[in-house]
Amino acid sequence: MSEATSADPRRRLPAVDRLLADPLVRRLEASYGREPVRVQARRALDRLRRRLAGEGAPPSADEVAALPDEIARALEAELGRPLRRVLNATGVLLHTNLGRAPLPREVAARLPELVTASCDLEIDLATGRRGDRAGRVSALVAALAGAEAAIAVNNNAAALVLALATFAAGREVVVSRGELVEIGGSFRIPEILAAAGARLVEVGTTNRTHLADYERAIGPATALLLKVHASNYRVSGFVAEASPADLAGLARARGLPLLCDEGSGLVRPRPEPQLAAETSWSELLSAGCDLVCGSGDKLLGGPQAGLLAGRAELVERCRRHPLYRAMRLDRLRAAALDGVLRRHLAGEPLPLDRLWPEPAAHRARLERMAARLAAAIVPADAFVGGGAAPESPIPGEALALPGSDELAARLRAGEPPVVGYLKGGRLLLDLRTVDAEDDGVLADAVRRAREGVA
Ligand SMILES: *Cc1c(COP(=O)(O)O)cnc(C)c1O
Repeated sequence: MSEATSADPRRRLPAVDRLLADPLVRRLEASYGREPVRVQARRALDRLRRRLAGEGAPPSADEVAALPDEIARALEAELGRPLRRVLNATGVLLHTNLGRAPLPREVAARLPELVTASCDLEIDLATGRRGDRAGRVSALVAALAGAEAAIAVNNNAAALVLALATFAAGREVVVSRGELVEIGGSFRIPEILAAAGARLVEVGTTNRTHLADYERAIGPATALLLKVHASNYRVSGFVAEASPADLAGLARARGLPLLCDEGSGLVRPRPEPQLAAETSWSELLSAGCDLVCGSGDKLLGGPQAGLLAGRAELVERCRRHPLYRAMRLDRLRAAALDGVLRRHLAGEPLPLDRLWPEPAAHRARLERMAARLAAAIVPADAFVGGGAAPESPIPGEALALPGSDELAARLRAGEPPVVGYLKGGRLLLDLRTVDAEDDGVLADAVRRAREGVA
Protein backbone atom coordinates (compact mmCIF):
# COMPACT_ATOMS: atom_id res chain seq x y z
CA MET A 1 0.00 0.00 0.00
CA SER A 2 1.47 3.39 -1.00
CA GLU A 3 1.80 6.09 1.61
CA ALA A 4 -1.04 8.57 1.52
CA THR A 5 -0.01 12.18 1.05
CA SER A 6 -1.62 14.96 3.10
CA ALA A 7 -3.74 15.89 0.09
CA ASP A 8 -4.87 12.30 -0.17
CA PRO A 9 -8.51 11.82 0.88
CA ARG A 10 -7.48 8.38 2.17
CA ARG A 11 -6.18 10.23 5.21
CA ARG A 12 -9.77 10.79 6.18
CA LEU A 13 -10.36 7.06 6.57
CA PRO A 14 -9.54 5.77 10.05
CA ALA A 15 -7.47 2.64 10.51
CA VAL A 16 -9.61 -0.36 11.42
CA ASP A 17 -8.27 -0.38 15.00
CA ARG A 18 -9.23 3.24 15.51
CA LEU A 19 -12.69 2.55 14.19
CA LEU A 20 -13.01 -0.42 16.57
CA ALA A 21 -12.03 1.84 19.49
CA ASP A 22 -14.94 4.23 18.78
CA PRO A 23 -17.30 4.15 21.82
CA LEU A 24 -20.41 3.24 19.76
CA VAL A 25 -18.54 0.47 17.95
CA ARG A 26 -17.27 -0.87 21.28
CA ARG A 27 -20.80 -0.96 22.66
CA LEU A 28 -21.83 -3.04 19.65
CA GLU A 29 -19.40 -5.74 20.76
CA ALA A 30 -21.55 -6.38 23.84
CA SER A 31 -24.54 -7.28 21.64
CA TYR A 32 -22.92 -8.88 18.63
CA GLY A 33 -19.48 -10.12 19.67
CA ARG A 34 -15.98 -8.96 18.70
CA GLU A 35 -15.53 -10.86 15.46
CA PRO A 36 -18.82 -9.88 13.72
CA VAL A 37 -18.13 -6.22 14.60
CA ARG A 38 -14.59 -6.47 13.19
CA VAL A 39 -15.88 -8.06 9.96
CA GLN A 40 -18.47 -5.31 9.43
CA ALA A 41 -15.92 -2.57 10.26
CA ARG A 42 -13.53 -3.94 7.59
CA ARG A 43 -16.34 -4.20 5.06
CA ALA A 44 -17.49 -0.63 5.68
CA LEU A 45 -13.93 0.67 5.32
CA ASP A 46 -13.34 -1.40 2.18
CA ARG A 47 -16.44 0.08 0.56
CA LEU A 48 -15.11 3.59 1.11
CA ARG A 49 -11.61 2.60 -0.07
CA ARG A 50 -13.01 1.22 -3.31
CA ARG A 51 -14.68 4.56 -3.93
CA LEU A 52 -11.38 6.32 -3.36
CA ALA A 53 -9.87 3.95 -5.89
CA GLY A 54 -12.23 5.36 -8.49
CA GLU A 55 -15.46 3.39 -8.10
CA GLY A 56 -17.95 6.23 -7.60
CA ALA A 57 -17.68 9.56 -5.78
CA PRO A 58 -15.04 9.84 -3.04
CA PRO A 59 -16.54 9.59 0.45
CA SER A 60 -17.40 12.83 2.25
CA ALA A 61 -16.33 13.68 5.80
CA ASP A 62 -19.95 13.05 6.90
CA GLU A 63 -19.86 9.55 5.48
CA VAL A 64 -16.65 8.85 7.33
CA ALA A 65 -18.18 10.19 10.55
CA ALA A 66 -21.22 7.97 9.99
CA LEU A 67 -19.15 4.78 9.82
CA PRO A 68 -20.09 3.60 13.37
CA ASP A 69 -23.80 4.02 12.55
CA GLU A 70 -23.32 2.16 9.28
CA ILE A 71 -21.66 -0.71 11.12
CA ALA A 72 -24.52 -0.78 13.62
CA ARG A 73 -27.07 -0.93 10.81
CA ALA A 74 -25.20 -3.70 9.01
CA LEU A 75 -24.97 -5.78 12.21
CA GLU A 76 -28.63 -5.20 12.92
CA ALA A 77 -29.57 -6.31 9.40
CA GLU A 78 -27.43 -9.43 9.70
CA LEU A 79 -28.01 -10.51 13.30
CA GLY A 80 -31.16 -8.69 14.37
CA ARG A 81 -31.39 -6.27 17.25
CA PRO A 82 -31.68 -7.44 20.84
CA LEU A 83 -35.22 -7.21 22.28
CA ARG A 84 -35.94 -3.71 23.49
CA ARG A 85 -38.35 -2.18 25.92
CA VAL A 86 -41.16 -0.32 24.14
CA LEU A 87 -43.54 2.22 25.66
CA ASN A 88 -47.00 1.05 24.67
CA ALA A 89 -49.21 4.14 24.26
CA THR A 90 -51.66 2.37 21.93
CA GLY A 91 -54.43 2.07 24.51
CA VAL A 92 -54.43 -1.70 23.90
CA LEU A 93 -52.91 -3.25 27.00
CA LEU A 94 -52.61 -6.93 26.01
CA HIS A 95 -50.99 -6.11 22.69
CA THR A 96 -49.86 -9.42 21.20
CA ASN A 97 -47.19 -7.76 19.03
CA LEU A 98 -45.79 -5.96 22.08
CA GLY A 99 -45.55 -9.04 24.28
CA ARG A 100 -49.08 -9.06 25.81
CA ALA A 101 -49.34 -8.62 29.59
CA PRO A 102 -46.76 -6.40 31.29
CA LEU A 103 -45.59 -8.13 34.49
CA PRO A 104 -46.08 -6.30 37.77
CA ARG A 105 -42.80 -4.61 38.75
CA GLU A 106 -42.92 -6.33 42.14
CA VAL A 107 -43.00 -9.74 40.42
CA ALA A 108 -40.28 -8.85 37.92
CA ALA A 109 -38.08 -7.52 40.75
CA ARG A 110 -37.91 -11.01 42.28
CA LEU A 111 -36.86 -12.73 39.07
CA PRO A 112 -33.12 -11.89 39.00
CA GLU A 113 -32.34 -13.66 42.30
CA LEU A 114 -34.38 -16.68 41.23
CA VAL A 115 -32.94 -17.04 37.76
CA THR A 116 -29.31 -15.97 38.15
CA ALA A 117 -28.71 -18.73 40.69
CA SER A 118 -30.60 -21.91 41.53
CA CYS A 119 -34.09 -22.16 42.97
CA ASP A 120 -36.35 -24.80 44.51
CA LEU A 121 -38.27 -25.40 41.29
CA GLU A 122 -38.52 -29.14 41.81
CA ILE A 123 -37.06 -30.07 45.16
CA ASP A 124 -38.70 -30.59 48.53
CA LEU A 125 -36.29 -28.63 50.75
CA ALA A 126 -37.66 -30.31 53.90
CA THR A 127 -36.64 -33.80 52.79
CA GLY A 128 -34.08 -33.03 50.07
CA ARG A 129 -36.03 -35.27 47.71
CA ARG A 130 -37.40 -34.49 44.31
CA GLY A 131 -40.43 -32.20 44.55
CA ASP A 132 -43.35 -31.35 42.31
CA ARG A 133 -43.00 -28.58 39.73
CA ALA A 134 -46.74 -28.37 39.22
CA GLY A 135 -47.65 -28.31 42.90
CA ARG A 136 -47.49 -24.54 43.46
CA VAL A 137 -49.56 -23.64 40.42
CA SER A 138 -52.05 -26.31 41.34
CA ALA A 139 -52.53 -25.03 44.89
CA LEU A 140 -52.80 -21.40 43.80
CA VAL A 141 -55.31 -22.02 41.01
CA ALA A 142 -57.29 -24.21 43.39
CA ALA A 143 -57.47 -21.38 45.89
CA LEU A 144 -58.32 -18.78 43.23
CA ALA A 145 -60.84 -20.59 41.06
CA GLY A 146 -62.00 -23.60 43.02
CA ALA A 147 -60.26 -26.10 40.72
CA GLU A 148 -59.20 -29.38 42.30
CA ALA A 149 -55.86 -29.18 40.46
CA ALA A 150 -54.04 -27.33 37.69
CA ILE A 151 -50.92 -27.50 35.54
CA ALA A 152 -49.10 -24.87 33.51
CA VAL A 153 -47.66 -25.31 30.02
CA ASN A 154 -46.15 -23.09 27.32
CA ASN A 155 -49.31 -21.29 26.22
CA ASN A 156 -53.03 -21.89 25.94
CA ALA A 157 -52.66 -23.49 22.52
CA ALA A 158 -50.41 -26.07 24.18
CA ALA A 159 -52.91 -26.57 27.03
CA LEU A 160 -55.60 -27.35 24.50
CA VAL A 161 -53.40 -29.70 22.47
CA LEU A 162 -52.36 -31.50 25.66
CA ALA A 163 -55.95 -32.00 26.83
CA LEU A 164 -57.11 -33.13 23.38
CA ALA A 165 -54.19 -35.51 22.95
CA THR A 166 -54.77 -36.96 26.42
CA PHE A 167 -58.50 -37.60 26.10
CA ALA A 168 -59.38 -37.62 22.42
CA ALA A 169 -56.51 -38.97 20.29
CA GLY A 170 -58.08 -41.14 17.59
CA ARG A 171 -61.56 -40.29 18.87
CA GLU A 172 -64.22 -37.62 18.38
CA VAL A 173 -64.63 -34.16 19.89
CA VAL A 174 -67.97 -32.38 19.59
CA VAL A 175 -67.76 -28.60 18.93
CA SER A 176 -70.34 -26.02 17.91
CA ARG A 177 -69.97 -24.58 14.38
CA GLY A 178 -70.18 -21.13 15.99
CA GLU A 179 -66.98 -21.85 17.91
CA LEU A 180 -64.69 -23.09 15.14
CA VAL A 181 -62.68 -19.90 15.41
CA GLU A 182 -59.29 -18.64 14.36
CA ILE A 183 -57.57 -16.62 17.08
CA GLY A 184 -54.69 -14.64 15.61
CA GLY A 185 -51.61 -16.12 14.02
CA SER A 186 -52.13 -19.74 13.20
CA PHE A 187 -54.41 -20.83 16.02
CA ARG A 188 -57.48 -22.45 14.44
CA ILE A 189 -59.68 -24.82 16.39
CA PRO A 190 -60.10 -27.43 13.60
CA GLU A 191 -56.34 -27.48 12.98
CA ILE A 192 -55.52 -27.76 16.69
CA LEU A 193 -57.85 -30.74 16.94
CA ALA A 194 -56.25 -32.36 13.92
CA ALA A 195 -52.75 -31.76 15.30
CA ALA A 196 -53.77 -33.47 18.55
CA GLY A 197 -55.03 -36.47 16.57
CA ALA A 198 -58.70 -35.88 17.42
CA ARG A 199 -61.61 -35.98 14.96
CA LEU A 200 -63.84 -32.94 14.85
CA VAL A 201 -67.61 -33.43 14.95
CA GLU A 202 -69.28 -30.12 14.11
CA VAL A 203 -72.73 -29.43 15.51
CA GLY A 204 -75.31 -26.66 15.06
CA THR A 205 -74.89 -23.71 12.73
CA THR A 206 -72.71 -20.61 12.71
CA ASN A 207 -75.27 -18.57 14.65
CA ARG A 208 -77.31 -21.12 16.58
CA THR A 209 -76.36 -24.32 18.38
CA HIS A 210 -78.69 -26.06 20.82
CA LEU A 211 -78.08 -28.63 23.52
CA ALA A 212 -80.03 -31.14 21.39
CA ASP A 213 -77.42 -30.74 18.62
CA TYR A 214 -74.73 -31.97 21.01
CA GLU A 215 -76.99 -34.77 22.28
CA ARG A 216 -77.55 -36.12 18.79
CA ALA A 217 -73.84 -36.01 17.92
CA ILE A 218 -72.66 -38.08 20.87
CA GLY A 219 -71.83 -41.64 19.88
CA PRO A 220 -69.54 -44.52 20.86
CA ALA A 221 -66.45 -42.71 19.46
CA THR A 222 -67.09 -39.46 21.36
CA ALA A 223 -64.29 -38.64 23.79
CA LEU A 224 -64.97 -35.08 24.83
CA LEU A 225 -67.30 -32.10 24.55
CA LEU A 226 -65.42 -28.87 23.82
CA LYS A 227 -66.70 -25.35 24.34
CA VAL A 228 -64.55 -22.53 22.96
CA HIS A 229 -64.74 -18.86 23.84
CA ALA A 230 -64.99 -17.04 20.52
CA SER A 231 -62.63 -14.31 21.86
CA ASN A 232 -61.98 -11.88 19.02
CA TYR A 233 -65.16 -12.65 17.09
CA ARG A 234 -68.87 -12.06 17.72
CA VAL A 235 -72.04 -13.33 16.13
CA SER A 236 -74.97 -11.18 17.06
CA GLY A 237 -78.65 -11.03 16.18
CA PHE A 238 -80.49 -14.36 15.90
CA VAL A 239 -78.08 -16.40 18.03
CA ALA A 240 -78.22 -19.27 20.50
CA GLU A 241 -75.65 -21.40 22.29
CA ALA A 242 -75.77 -24.09 24.94
CA SER A 243 -74.70 -22.74 28.34
CA PRO A 244 -71.73 -24.27 30.16
CA ALA A 245 -74.11 -25.54 32.86
CA ASP A 246 -76.37 -27.28 30.31
CA LEU A 247 -73.37 -28.80 28.54
CA ALA A 248 -71.92 -29.94 31.86
CA GLY A 249 -75.20 -31.67 32.68
CA LEU A 250 -75.19 -33.44 29.32
CA ALA A 251 -71.52 -34.43 29.65
CA ARG A 252 -72.10 -35.87 33.12
CA ALA A 253 -75.16 -37.84 31.98
CA ARG A 254 -73.13 -39.40 29.15
CA GLY A 255 -69.99 -39.96 31.19
CA LEU A 256 -67.90 -37.59 29.05
CA PRO A 257 -65.60 -34.78 30.14
CA LEU A 258 -66.45 -31.18 29.18
CA LEU A 259 -63.46 -28.97 28.36
CA CYS A 260 -63.99 -25.20 28.19
CA ASP A 261 -61.34 -23.17 26.36
CA GLU A 262 -61.94 -19.90 28.18
CA GLY A 263 -59.02 -18.30 26.36
CA SER A 264 -58.13 -15.17 28.25
CA GLY A 265 -57.17 -16.43 31.69
CA LEU A 266 -59.93 -14.64 33.61
CA VAL A 267 -59.61 -16.69 36.75
CA ARG A 268 -62.22 -14.86 38.79
CA PRO A 269 -64.99 -12.50 37.67
CA ARG A 270 -64.08 -8.81 37.32
CA PRO A 271 -66.56 -6.03 37.99
CA GLU A 272 -65.62 -3.64 35.15
CA PRO A 273 -68.48 -3.34 32.63
CA GLN A 274 -66.18 -4.36 29.74
CA LEU A 275 -65.31 -7.64 31.49
CA ALA A 276 -68.50 -8.37 33.40
CA ALA A 277 -69.90 -10.40 30.50
CA GLU A 278 -66.79 -12.64 30.28
CA THR A 279 -67.22 -15.97 32.03
CA SER A 280 -64.43 -16.69 34.50
CA TRP A 281 -62.85 -20.03 35.39
CA SER A 282 -64.46 -20.06 38.82
CA GLU A 283 -67.87 -19.66 37.18
CA LEU A 284 -67.16 -22.32 34.55
CA LEU A 285 -65.89 -24.77 37.15
CA SER A 286 -68.81 -24.19 39.48
CA ALA A 287 -71.16 -24.63 36.49
CA GLY A 288 -69.74 -28.15 36.23
CA CYS A 289 -67.02 -27.89 33.54
CA ASP A 290 -64.54 -30.69 34.13
CA LEU A 291 -61.55 -28.82 32.70
CA VAL A 292 -60.90 -25.21 31.74
CA CYS A 293 -57.92 -23.76 29.94
CA GLY A 294 -56.72 -20.21 29.34
CA SER A 295 -53.67 -18.03 28.72
CA GLY A 296 -51.31 -16.85 31.43
CA ASP A 297 -50.48 -13.64 29.58
CA LYS A 298 -53.92 -12.28 28.79
CA LEU A 299 -56.31 -11.24 31.58
CA LEU A 300 -54.37 -13.25 34.15
CA GLY A 301 -51.57 -10.74 33.63
CA GLY A 302 -48.64 -13.14 33.84
CA PRO A 303 -45.94 -14.52 31.54
CA GLN A 304 -46.75 -16.45 28.38
CA ALA A 305 -48.24 -19.68 29.67
CA GLY A 306 -51.27 -21.89 29.35
CA LEU A 307 -53.14 -23.16 32.36
CA LEU A 308 -55.27 -26.24 32.49
CA ALA A 309 -57.42 -26.61 35.60
CA GLY A 310 -60.25 -28.76 36.84
CA ARG A 311 -60.91 -32.22 38.21
CA ALA A 312 -57.80 -33.69 39.85
CA GLU A 313 -57.99 -37.04 38.13
CA LEU A 314 -58.25 -35.45 34.66
CA VAL A 315 -55.47 -32.93 35.31
CA GLU A 316 -53.26 -35.78 36.54
CA ARG A 317 -53.85 -37.73 33.32
CA CYS A 318 -52.71 -34.69 31.33
CA ARG A 319 -49.66 -34.32 33.56
CA ARG A 320 -48.66 -37.93 32.88
CA HIS A 321 -48.99 -37.56 29.09
CA PRO A 322 -45.56 -37.44 27.37
CA LEU A 323 -46.49 -34.14 25.72
CA TYR A 324 -46.61 -32.43 29.12
CA ARG A 325 -42.86 -32.96 29.37
CA ALA A 326 -42.45 -31.20 26.04
CA MET A 327 -44.63 -28.28 27.08
CA ARG A 328 -43.92 -27.62 30.74
CA LEU A 329 -42.67 -24.26 32.00
CA ASP A 330 -39.08 -23.38 32.71
CA ARG A 331 -38.23 -21.72 36.03
CA LEU A 332 -38.21 -18.20 34.60
CA ARG A 333 -41.85 -18.37 33.68
CA ALA A 334 -42.77 -20.59 36.63
CA ALA A 335 -41.39 -17.88 38.92
CA ALA A 336 -43.28 -15.09 37.15
CA LEU A 337 -46.51 -17.07 37.09
CA ASP A 338 -46.19 -17.93 40.76
CA GLY A 339 -45.69 -14.25 41.64
CA VAL A 340 -48.68 -13.12 39.59
CA LEU A 341 -51.01 -15.81 40.96
CA ARG A 342 -50.03 -14.79 44.50
CA ARG A 343 -50.89 -11.16 43.72
CA HIS A 344 -54.33 -12.28 42.55
CA LEU A 345 -54.75 -14.20 45.78
CA ALA A 346 -53.64 -11.25 47.92
CA GLY A 347 -55.83 -8.84 45.94
CA GLU A 348 -52.81 -6.71 44.98
CA PRO A 349 -53.07 -4.41 41.96
CA LEU A 350 -51.99 -5.71 38.55
CA PRO A 351 -51.02 -3.80 35.38
CA LEU A 352 -54.46 -4.68 33.91
CA ASP A 353 -55.98 -2.29 36.47
CA ARG A 354 -54.32 0.63 34.66
CA LEU A 355 -57.11 0.46 32.10
CA TRP A 356 -59.56 1.68 34.74
CA PRO A 357 -57.58 4.40 36.55
CA GLU A 358 -58.93 6.47 39.40
CA PRO A 359 -60.53 9.35 37.40
CA ALA A 360 -59.21 12.39 39.33
CA ALA A 361 -55.65 11.06 39.52
CA HIS A 362 -55.69 10.12 35.85
CA ARG A 363 -57.03 13.52 34.83
CA ALA A 364 -54.23 15.18 36.80
CA ARG A 365 -51.67 12.91 35.11
CA LEU A 366 -53.05 13.75 31.66
CA GLU A 367 -52.96 17.49 32.39
CA ARG A 368 -49.42 17.29 33.68
CA MET A 369 -48.25 15.44 30.57
CA ALA A 370 -50.31 17.64 28.21
CA ALA A 371 -48.64 20.75 29.65
CA ARG A 372 -45.22 19.15 29.40
CA LEU A 373 -45.70 18.16 25.76
CA ALA A 374 -47.98 21.01 24.59
CA ALA A 375 -50.48 18.30 23.69
CA ALA A 376 -54.27 18.41 23.56
CA ILE A 377 -56.45 16.03 25.58
CA VAL A 378 -59.04 14.30 23.44
CA PRO A 379 -61.65 11.56 24.00
CA ALA A 380 -60.23 8.13 23.21
CA ASP A 381 -61.19 4.50 23.70
CA ALA A 382 -58.83 1.98 25.22
CA PHE A 383 -59.14 -1.79 24.82
CA VAL A 384 -58.14 -4.80 26.87
CA GLY A 385 -56.68 -6.57 23.82
CA GLY A 386 -55.53 -10.15 23.49
CA GLY A 387 -58.93 -11.15 22.12
CA ALA A 388 -60.73 -10.24 25.36
CA ALA A 389 -63.82 -8.01 25.11
CA PRO A 390 -62.91 -6.79 21.59
CA GLU A 391 -66.17 -4.90 21.17
CA SER A 392 -66.14 -3.28 24.58
CA PRO A 393 -64.24 0.00 24.36
CA ILE A 394 -63.14 1.62 27.58
CA PRO A 395 -64.03 5.28 27.13
CA GLY A 396 -61.56 7.87 28.36
CA GLU A 397 -59.01 10.38 27.13
CA ALA A 398 -55.62 10.42 25.47
CA LEU A 399 -52.93 12.97 24.58
CA ALA A 400 -53.09 14.24 21.00
CA LEU A 401 -50.12 15.70 19.13
CA PRO A 402 -50.26 17.33 15.74
CA GLY A 403 -48.52 14.65 13.77
CA SER A 404 -48.38 12.23 10.97
CA ASP A 405 -46.78 8.99 9.85
CA GLU A 406 -43.44 10.72 10.09
CA LEU A 407 -43.77 11.52 13.80
CA ALA A 408 -45.12 8.03 14.48
CA ALA A 409 -42.10 6.55 12.70
CA ARG A 410 -39.66 8.77 14.63
CA LEU A 411 -41.28 7.73 17.89
CA ARG A 412 -40.89 4.08 16.97
CA ALA A 413 -37.26 4.66 16.02
CA GLY A 414 -36.46 6.41 19.33
CA GLU A 415 -34.87 5.07 22.47
CA PRO A 416 -37.00 3.75 24.02
CA PRO A 417 -39.38 3.29 21.10
CA VAL A 418 -42.89 4.67 21.67
CA VAL A 419 -45.91 3.21 19.89
CA GLY A 420 -49.02 5.40 19.67
CA TYR A 421 -51.68 5.55 16.97
CA LEU A 422 -52.88 7.96 14.31
CA LYS A 423 -56.44 9.19 14.32
CA GLY A 424 -58.02 12.09 12.46
CA GLY A 425 -54.66 13.53 11.43
CA ARG A 426 -53.27 13.48 14.97
CA LEU A 427 -50.97 11.19 16.85
CA LEU A 428 -52.65 9.85 19.99
CA LEU A 429 -50.82 8.61 23.07
CA ASP A 430 -52.99 6.77 25.58
CA LEU A 431 -51.39 6.89 29.03
CA ARG A 432 -53.60 4.09 30.34
CA THR A 433 -51.28 1.52 28.81
CA VAL A 434 -48.12 3.26 30.06
CA ASP A 435 -46.84 2.74 33.59
CA ALA A 436 -47.04 6.14 35.36
CA GLU A 437 -43.43 5.58 36.45
CA ASP A 438 -42.44 5.87 32.79
CA ASP A 439 -44.06 9.30 32.21
CA GLY A 440 -40.71 11.10 32.36
CA VAL A 441 -39.12 8.71 29.89
CA LEU A 442 -42.15 9.02 27.61
CA ALA A 443 -42.04 12.82 27.70
CA ASP A 444 -38.33 12.85 26.83
CA ALA A 445 -38.81 10.37 23.99
CA VAL A 446 -41.65 12.45 22.53
CA ARG A 447 -39.64 15.64 22.84
CA ARG A 448 -36.68 14.11 21.00
CA ALA A 449 -38.89 12.70 18.26
CA ARG A 450 -40.58 16.07 17.71
CA GLU A 451 -37.29 17.94 17.59
CA GLY A 452 -36.28 15.62 14.81
CA VAL A 453 -39.36 16.49 12.78
CA ALA A 454 -38.90 19.45 10.47
C1 LIG B 1 -55.84 -16.63 22.99
C2 LIG B 1 -56.64 -17.86 22.91
C3 LIG B 1 -56.02 -19.08 22.65
C4 LIG B 1 -54.54 -19.20 22.41
O1 LIG B 1 -53.86 -18.89 23.59
P1 LIG B 1 -52.27 -18.70 23.56
O2 LIG B 1 -51.92 -18.54 25.01
O3 LIG B 1 -52.01 -17.49 22.74
O4 LIG B 1 -51.70 -19.93 22.97
C5 LIG B 1 -56.81 -20.21 22.59
N1 LIG B 1 -58.14 -20.15 22.76
C6 LIG B 1 -58.77 -18.99 23.01
C7 LIG B 1 -60.26 -18.99 23.19
C8 LIG B 1 -58.04 -17.80 23.10
O5 LIG B 1 -58.66 -16.64 23.33
